[in-house]
Amino acid sequence: MTDPARIRRERDKAAKLKKSQWWHRLVNRGICHYCEKKFSPSELTMDHVVPLARGGSSTQGNLVPACRECNRDKKLETPVELILKREERSNDE
Ligand SMILES: [Zn+2]
Repeated sequence: MTDPARIRRERDKAAKLKKSQWWHRLVNRGICHYCEKKFSPSELTMDHVVPLARGGSSTQGNLVPACRECNRDKKLETPVELILKREERSNDE
């Protein structure tokens, strides 16, 4: 599943899809898949719902636009880490 060659291949596919009409339409709508807020196209990143490292692939069904905030949160492994991170953030404010 974590075969580096496969991941490289899937990344290439994602890069190609990024240039497609399909992706442009999604990004121009500007809605983050996770928080459903509106962003400008430059603020949205391409996100794999099932990460490549966990066997996800670069298909239209597995790729969604995500704002930077949501994309970063999802990289955390467990809900516990997510909660800790939120607490850190609120302490900073
Ligand atoms: Zn978001």
